[in-house]
Amino acid sequence: MAASLIRRMVAAQCLVIGLGCASTARSPQSAASVTPAATSAPMAKAPLELIVLGSGGPDAVGRASTCFILSLDGAPRILIDAGSGAFTRLGEAGISLHRLDLILLTHLHIDHTCELPGILKARVVSTRVPISFQIFGPTGGSEFPSTKHFLDLLFGKKGAFAYLADFSEPMTIVATDVDASLRSSTSPQTLLAEDELKISAIAGHHDDAPAVIYRVDYKGRSVVFSGDIDASGLDHLRLIADHCDLLVFNTVVLDPPHSRAILYTLHTPPKKIGEVAAGTHVGALLLTHLNPSIDEAHDAVLASIRRSYDGPVTFSADRMRATP
Ligand SMILES: [Zn+2]
Ligand SMILES: [Zn+2]
Repeated sequence: MAASLIRRMVAAQCLVIGLGCASTARSPQSAASVTPAATSAPMAKAPLELIVLGSGGPDAVGRASTCFILSLDGAPRILIDAGSGAFTRLGEAGISLHRLDLILLTHLHIDHTCELPGILKARVVSTRVPISFQIFGPTGGSEFPSTKHFLDLLFGKKGAFAYLADFSEPMTIVATDVDASLRSSTSPQTLLAEDELKISAIAGHHDDAPAVIYRVDYKGRSVVFSGDIDASGLDHLRLIADHCDLLVFNTVVLDPPHSRAILYTLHTPPKKIGEVAAGTHVGALLLTHLNPSIDEAHDAVLASIRRSYDGPVTFSADRMRATP
């Protein structure tokens, strides 16, 4: 097949970032030039659109911590994680909460969950009808409660924010603990199948924090969220990410030995990220959960990923929009 034809096919399937395919990052320089202000305008309605509300974490260095929202046919409906600062980004990005009813928590670290009360309250006061949330997250373990217990501690009858259940319109939460054990969860399970929307999940691995990897398929497009993930979870990530259009990969460490040793028990370095993306034939990579050490080494990170993967790679920014 002619190289030009292959390039055209890649371009046709590529992730659309911000202002369109032309700005999709083939190099870190072009990705870094996509500014939140330039990308905050709504794009034409795509079946599936990802809006980055938090591209960093957990350091307080200018990025909100991990949070995304997925729009289905232009309506923001699925929240993925709820890290610090994301609440403000919701308003800045002009996101309507009227259709938000599905929440996927990858794990219960603070930089992925602490904005949940504020976002739920904003959703509750945005409506004049009773609201029911379906919230998915990992089973408990180590020092971490199960997601059901976590939500009960916050919003249950004896929870810190028990008042929210009938503060405005009645609010109910249907919580589901997703098996986060690598041993018992060996293939993706379907959490929700509704018309053309399918949400599936499989256990990830993030040192001692129970973790879940999610995949959302809608109208033939697909996006996978690695969550914070160490090497032990990568086989499961390969299973669920196979041939997805967009893999959102939490990118926290540089290749060894350039980050602190302890961080390699929690996260996946760029060389491995490239290998997973190539091995699973993903359409595009969006790197997120970024910190200053990654931001100062875009060239090295991209070069490492490029050893295996030659598809589009983009460094995320708060309020960036992507169309898988
Ligand atoms: Zn974490
Ligand atoms: Zn994190």
